[in-house]
Amino acid sequence: MRKIRASLLFGSVMLLAACGNGETEEAVDEQAVESTEEVAEAAELNVVATTTMMADLMEVIGGERVEVTGLMGPGIDPHDYQPSTSDVNAMTEADIVAYNGLMLEERFVEVFDQLEQQGVFTITAEDAMDTSVLLDPEEDEEDLEYDPHIWFSVAHWETVTEHVADRLSEKEPESEDYFRENAENYLDELAELREYIEERIEEVPEQSRYLVTAHDAFQYFGEEFNFEVLGLQGLNPQTEAGTADISSLADFLADNEINAVFVETSVSPRGIEALIEAAASRGHEVENAGELYSDALGSPDDGTDTYIEMFRANIDTIVDGLTN
Ligand SMILES: [Zn+2]
Repeated sequence: MRKIRASLLFGSVMLLAACGNGETEEAVDEQAVESTEEVAEAAELNVVATTTMMADLMEVIGGERVEVTGLMGPGIDPHDYQPSTSDVNAMTEADIVAYNGLMLEERFVEVFDQLEQQGVFTITAEDAMDTSVLLDPEEDEEDLEYDPHIWFSVAHWETVTEHVADRLSEKEPESEDYFRENAENYLDELAELREYIEERIEEVPEQSRYLVTAHDAFQYFGEEFNFEVLGLQGLNPQTEAGTADISSLADFLADNEINAVFVETSVSPRGIEALIEAAASRGHEVENAGELYSDALGSPDDGTDTYIEMFRANIDTIVDGLTN
């Protein structure tokens, strides 16, 4: 190893000499460090990912071995996103297509079938999960067999992390050590995230641990962190909440003295606004306590464009909203 390092360093110095005075010392150091890692020298793997959560995870575990293109941006609802022709072309030509599955990307079903027939290498959160730990959809969600929002369980996201490392290693065995190391480091970060979540939740009195949001994205969160979770619009936000849903949830808020509800970045706030009005007409004041990231990460400008930052922002919003 030492010998390899020395010769690679020597290579960098030679390169520096060859480039004349254009390279800075920093660039040389960086190159030396990169070259000592056991990473394949071939061109990067071209990864196309559907959701922002999967794009983030592919980037974290794939690191410098992948070039990730995400199809959906911040605030995009994956239940409703219709792939364009250029999306389909990008997926067909990709080395790897990464997606959530479990019918989250409902309008991709035919495309996913087509990719399978063409033998495109796929990595999905769905394949990582044992169906015994998946939650059932509530009531009449005809198209969904399971609740697809698994990223809101940190434990499930750890499982997906390991699966992504496994699959990347299958695709490129010569970089396996590198992928495994990235996964190990990330699992440490996820453990820290869980500690942060648990610590902050301690601030909320147990009888106030209700999370009322626009659609049912947070059932896995509720299960893992002991929150009662109520979504106004079911698992798919394209299903509009009816007046009966609004009225029964407004009763529930009044009966349980819940004063804070949350909107979501990828769902129209109309339903939650109607809920607040319905509660007010019952003489029960409810506040819109802020916006949660549900089915999409945030933007780099908000500092919420990674899974971990997104989850921390959500927990801060939830805890602050329920304790103020
Ligand atoms: Zn959703």
